[in-house]
Amino acid sequence: MATDAASSAWQRLVERPRADVLVIGGGINGIATFRDLAMQGVDVALVERDDYAGGASAASSHMIHGGIRYLENGEFRLVHEAVAERNGLLRIAPHYVRPLLTTIPIFSTFSGILSAPLRFLRHGAGRPKERGAALIKIGLVIYDSFSRGGGQVARHAFHGRRRSLQVLPDLNPGLRYTASYWDASLRDPERLALDVLRDGLLAGDGRARAANYVAAVGARGGAVVLRQAETGEEIEFAASVVVNASGPWTDLTNAAIGDPTSFMGGTKGSHVVLDNPELLAATGGREIFFEHSDGRIVLIYPLGGRVLVGTTDLEHDMRDEIVCTDEEVAYFFDLVRHVFPTIAVEPSQIVYRFAGVRPLPGHGDVAPGFVSRDYRIESAPLPGSGGAVPVLSLVGGKWTTFRASAEHLTDRVLAALGVPRRQSTARVQIGGGIGYPTTARRRARWIADNARALDRLRVARLLERYGTRATEIIAAIAADREDAPLRADPGFSTAELRHLAGTEHVVHLADMLLRRTSLAFTGTATAAAEEVARIIAPVLGWDEARIEREVRDGSAAVRRAEPGGARETGDAHETALSGS
Ligand SMILES: Cc1cc2nc3c(=O)[nH]c(=O)nc-3n(C[C@H](O)[C@H](O)[C@H](O)COP(=O)(O)OP(=O)(O)OC[C@H]3O[C@@H](n4cnc5c(N)ncnc54)[C@H](O)[C@@H]3O)c2cc1C
Repeated sequence: MATDAASSAWQRLVERPRADVLVIGGGINGIATFRDLAMQGVDVALVERDDYAGGASAASSHMIHGGIRYLENGEFRLVHEAVAERNGLLRIAPHYVRPLLTTIPIFSTFSGILSAPLRFLRHGAGRPKERGAALIKIGLVIYDSFSRGGGQVARHAFHGRRRSLQVLPDLNPGLRYTASYWDASLRDPERLALDVLRDGLLAGDGRARAANYVAAVGARGGAVVLRQAETGEEIEFAASVVVNASGPWTDLTNAAIGDPTSFMGGTKGSHVVLDNPELLAATGGREIFFEHSDGRIVLIYPLGGRVLVGTTDLEHDMRDEIVCTDEEVAYFFDLVRHVFPTIAVEPSQIVYRFAGVRPLPGHGDVAPGFVSRDYRIESAPLPGSGGAVPVLSLVGGKWTTFRASAEHLTDRVLAALGVPRRQSTARVQIGGGIGYPTTARRRARWIADNARALDRLRVARLLERYGTRATEIIAAIAADREDAPLRADPGFSTAELRHLAGTEHVVHLADMLLRRTSLAFTGTATAAAEEVARIIAPVLGWDEARIEREVRDGSAAVRRAEPGGARETGDAHETALSGS
């Protein structure tokens, strides 16, 4: 039996198996397109094969960034757009997108091991060499110039060795300079995606529909065949336009609906999350960011009281499993030791590891680190529709640019439907970002105003976690007489979890552990699994057998992220790593 959440969403598709637009894929790009279309009054439905934002959207480095390194590929359009989107998201999603001070250590003595961004400024051709301070300076001036008028972040600063070590004393004393500039952090990608989805559903005024655990599996008679994961039930769903926003699975979805494509060439990237207070303190609250000589980005980034370390960039076959391997972990540790040589890092400090595949375009011989991060839209008729139903496939598209890529997709859909755009999404605040208090004074006021039923500390924590949507959670907690702190992580409470389970399309325990809460990211999910399952079981109608199954599957999903839990994914990855 499907759960209530899943079966009611599915039933709404079954009852009316048609819409103007069907969006396939509930990652951030599909969800943002869904929201934009719903805001234009379009009848839109979205299906997601697994859980919302569980694909590439759950695997990001948590940066909303202009992408300074894309300048080296000459991607000026993308960087310009990304900087504008970054500045826009700081305004429309201030609850999750915050300014982030980023520091590049420049190690001229480590030529060939560690190198700085901006390859396009490199003298001469051949193997990448470390860029000198003057060249990085020029790149940052260009980057700043893209920010002009945005007014959201300060300009870059450049420091010599002495000053750099005064500010960040644990950095490798072999460095020559540091360059610091501002980008933005995305604290909780999965929760921001849910906010965008919810806004789309609200804008759709009862007509817009979205269902997770529903896959597009084929095409028949000009309609897309949808399958419900739990029951296996299938329906034919008709739409005037289909949007394929399957991220790295875009070619596989096109093949499933009968029009094989080879647009994609995704690369896998992994991260580890460390519980290492010394390393956390050493970052000074900044992201430490640099580029390996082969183009891979390395970041050491304080987030949620932990340190996020990433990332790799490895060719990947989408039919293979996507996991962070032990070789990747060893590679991360080597790099952390280069940057902070006196700080001990060990596997026992890993509380979480995750991996995903970037939805990059096919790139022939171009090395993964240098593949274009820009996006484009491809169009082809849905097989069996007599050319009447276009399938628009999004190729590429980062978290940073989700609003802009959704706007482009929406404009293409509106043109196909002959419907005018009613409004732009550029200035429309998202979810808990609506009315979010961005100054200390407003924040204190907001907390005082909402601290009637709960104490201020708790209200402050909920505001941080949900933005202004915290008002709902506060009301739910206040109304729940049995509310109690979660034993495995007292930062969460039972009423809060019950509320999330009942209102946020939760189908499986893993949805709660990995995406509705930060329990997996901070390392408490394994201890919390059974407790959380029993708390949400009454809301989701789970019996004892279902609880046991959910605990087993949910724990396995988290365990894959634990030390030694990763499975090997094939020789290709090992080869790529050994070449670094
Ligand atoms: C390691 C890594 C680091 C990154 N770091 C950053 C960063 O710091 N900043 C940044 O801006 N971007 C970053 N990105 C890129 C960004 O995360 C992705 O580009 C973005 O999330 C893609 O979103 P999407 O919606 O296109 O794809 P996805 O999130 O993958 O969504 C596609 C969805 O389609 C679903 N699907 C597939 N087939 C079907 C089907 N047949 N039927 C129904 N559903 C289907 C999948 O289950 C999936 O949920 C990073 C990516 C990776 C992998």
